[in-house]
Parts: sequence; structure tokens; C-alpha cells
Amino acid sequence: MSTISLLIRGRHRQASGGKTFERRNPLDSGVATVAPAATPADAQEAVQAAADAFAQWSQTGPSQRRALLSKAADALEAREADFVAAMAAETGASALWAGFNVHLAAGMLREAAALTSQIGGEVIPSDVPGNLAMAQRVPAGVVVGMAPWNAPIILGVRAIATPLACGNTVVLKGSELCPATHGLIIESLQEAGMPEGVVNFITNAPDDAPAVVEALVAHPATRRVNFTGSTKVGRIIAGLCAQHLKPVVLELGGKAPLVVLDDADLECAVNAAAFGAFANSGQICMSTERIVVDEAIADAFVTRLADKVRGLPVGDPRKGPVVLGSVVDMAAVHRCNAMIDDALSKGAKLLCGGKSDDTLMPATLLDHVTPDMRIYAEETFGPVKAIVRVEGEDAAVACANDSAYGLSSAVISRDVARAMRIAGRIQSGICHINGPTVHDEPQMPFGGVKDSGYGRFGGRAGIDAFTELRWITVQTAPRAYPF
Ligand code: NAD
Repeated sequence: MSTISLLIRGRHRQASGGKTFERRNPLDSGVATVAPAATPADAQEAVQAAADAFAQWSQTGPSQRRALLSKAADALEAREADFVAAMAAETGASALWAGFNVHLAAGMLREAAALTSQIGGEVIPSDVPGNLAMAQRVPAGVVVGMAPWNAPIILGVRAIATPLACGNTVVLKGSELCPATHGLIIESLQEAGMPEGVVNFITNAPDDAPAVVEALVAHPATRRVNFTGSTKVGRIIAGLCAQHLKPVVLELGGKAPLVVLDDADLECAVNAAAFGAFANSGQICMSTERIVVDEAIADAFVTRLADKVRGLPVGDPRKGPVVLGSVVDMAAVHRCNAMIDDALSKGAKLLCGGKSDDTLMPATLLDHVTPDMRIYAEETFGPVKAIVRVEGEDAAVACANDSAYGLSSAVISRDVARAMRIAGRIQSGICHINGPTVHDEPQMPFGGVKDSGYGRFGGRAGIDAFTELRWITVQTAPRAYPF
């Protein structure tokens, strides 16, 4: 069991009032973590600490910030075993997924380190004679980042790495479901030598989330907010940010379609579908939630996919390597079970897996899914995925776009030009041709459209999100005035 603390102004401390909350293991209900239940006053203090550190940090040179972020990447990688244990204890995730998280998160810190010397600007021609006009990217101020539990290291690091690279100071609000895992990120940054107050960390009891989040957003020093989580909570955060006029990046839910055209290479399609649907038990925002397959090849594709998926190992990740560990809680099991019942009662066919009594859910595929079934539209966020059969590419595009969400998508075809045309018609922030819907790299513009949110993390897009663009002029010759 871990007991963790808040980090405010470089000091580890408990919540004012001393209240704590527990995170229990999803498999055996043993207490995994005891964490401080921060109050709104603690949240405000964390923002204030970040605001006080901003004056110095925003003036540091790129080399200093680069060195610290690079060191943090090394420190994070050195804690891999701790991360694997924390994720298994808090969320039931497999070592495979935890290791991937460490690797990509370290890459995100290194990419952020590289960005420190890319925060530039441009000279813009002015019509005023002798006027040198510039647009300059400058740090915004305090950035509040809120990260979920499902890819905890990647999304926790993403919430703060580029903001720090840009010269902002940060407050990370950890997830109630993995406070110790998020705490390890903060420890890695501290080990790297981040100055006092540059990185602050808040954890809160689930019931306190609305008040704590409001305190974080409303503080006058907070200049940017980013939130990764559900569309439902994203709407609440968007409303709060609108009320307080705080720009926000929202990375929300998804219902990613993988479109398998009639000329697809079946092996490519099967491998992309299995990985995209069942990595981390389907609990990824980019998870393949709908496999949209052309009727002409559907039988052959479905047979091969089911054969592969049936063999995916499920088990307690603390006892050995598995592909599917535990899902995050019984609520996920009940949600997935209900969607299976609903689909089967309306004519879907179960290819493999099925309902579960505990959080060790098997990889489950439902064929012949139709729009009247809940699973057609709702995010399962678990290892239960829908196959929708369509006739022809127009029907495939219509089905792919028949969703409130628009985060990731994929098209599988031997004809890349045709796949490019189809990709161009799909409404999503991300589309991969002949690859899985689950694919992330630190330098790529990551984000969605429609109910999947707005704004982009990653590379230069991240610089735009977490800096102000200022217009600066220098009058280099006498200026003519009208009076
Ligand atoms: P969630 O939205 O349920 O919870 C996120 C956080 O919101 C919680 O930690 C909580 O502190 C806060 N919160 C809850 N109620 C609140 C309220 N009333 N006011 C203010 N804050 C509140 O999300 P989750 O279950 O942790 O994560 C799963 C969801 O995240 C899925 O929908 C998934 O698709 C999405 N997700 C998106 C991305 C992406 O990059 N687009 C990545 C991962 C996950």
C-alpha cells in the first residue's frame, strides 16, 4: 500500500484538515493507496505557489529547461518497476501497458525538452515606415492539467510537459483512481531538480472534484487549463472555463471506427483490429470501438479476427504477463455486460468472450451490430467491441461518421490512394491508413473533433496551446503623427 502526499511550493504535505481517501485494487479490493483529499483552499494554494514560481521559471533559458526535462525523462524511466507495480495495484493494468506508458511518457518529456528552443515567433511586415513588428510566443502563466487513470503516465506527463517547456508553471490534478501512479510522475520531476513551486500536485476525494476543480480554474493566476477525461465531465469543465474566460484544451471520449474495405489485406486488418480494440482492455480514448467491415470480405475477416482474439490471455497482472489485465472497476463490467445483453437481445452475434462476473473481462466481439443497439453509439471503454457490416465505401464512410465522437479512426485497404480519399471524408482529428486507431507519438498533433473535444497536444501544436502570442513593435525611425 502507498501513502502519498500533495506537492505545493516544493513541500510534500497532507491536505489541510488532514482528510484522506483510498483507492482500492479493482480485483481484490485491497487498499492500494491512501491519498490526501485536498480542499479548494489547497487547490488555490497550489495555483498561488505556481504563480509565485512563474516569474523566475518563465525567464529561464531554453538550455536550463531542456536539461531538467531530459533529466526528468531519465528519472521516469528509472522508476519503471515502481510504475508497473502502482498501475497494477491501482487500475489493474498489465505490465505491457504500464511499460508502454513509461516509454511514451519519457518520449514526451524528451520531445518537450527539444521544444524549448522552438518557442519562437516571426517578424511581420508593417505599413508604418521604420517599424519592426514581431509576433512572439511567450509563456502564458499557470497551467492547470487534469489527467485520467487509463493511460496514467502518458496523460499525466502530457498535461504538464509541453506547458513546462514553454516556460509555464503547472498544477497537476491527479486522478482519484490512480493517485500514486500520478504521484510517481511528480517524484520523477522532483528528482530531476525542478525548482520549488514550478510543479505542484493535487489529489482529491471523488466527491470533492467539482469544488476543487472550480478552485483551480477560477484562481486569477490560472491562464490555461487542459483536461483529459470523459465528454460528460469535459462539458462541465468547458462551462467553467467559459465562465472564467480560461482557454482550455479538451481531450475527451471516442468511438473510433476501423474501416476495413473490400480490398483490405486481411492480416493487416486483423492485427490492427485486435491491437486497437484490446490494448489495455479497450480502455484507451483511441480504442477501436467499431470495426466497420465491407460485407464482401466480412465472413473471412471476422473468422480470422475471432480466432486471434480468442487466444488473448486475461489475468491478474500482479501474477504474470497478460494482454488483458483487470478493467478499472465493476462499473466498467456492469456497463459492458449491459451493452452485451442489449446487443444480443437485438440480434447481434457473440463471436468470442462474453459477460463477466468480475473485473477480469475477456476480449469480446459482437458481430452484426446495428444502429439500434447501445454499443453502436456509446463508448464501451472496455474489452467489448462492435463489428458493423456495410456494403460499399459510401456506407462505410456514413457509418464511420455516424457518431457524436471524432477522435481517432483508421482505414485498411491495399489501394492507398483510395484509402486516402476515404480518410479525407472521415470526421476525426486523427486517421491512420493501414494501421491501428491506437497510435500516439509525442511530436504529433493529438486531438479530436465533435464531442471528442478541441485543441491539440503534441509538438508545435502544443506550443500554440500553452503560450500567448504577443505583438511587439520597435519604431526604428522618426514616426509621422497626424497631430
Ligand atoms: P472522467 O471524466 O469520469 O473523470 C475525469 C476527472 O474529472 C476525474 O478525475 C474527476 O476529478 C473530474 N470530475 C468528475 N466530476 C467532475 C465535476 N462535476 N466537475 C469537475 N471535475 C469533475 O474520466 P475518466 O473515467 O477518468 O476517463 C475516461 C474517459 O476519458 C473516457 O471517456 C475516455 O475516452 C477519455 N479519455 C480521453 C483521452 C483523449 O486524449 N481524448 C485520453 C484518455 C481518456
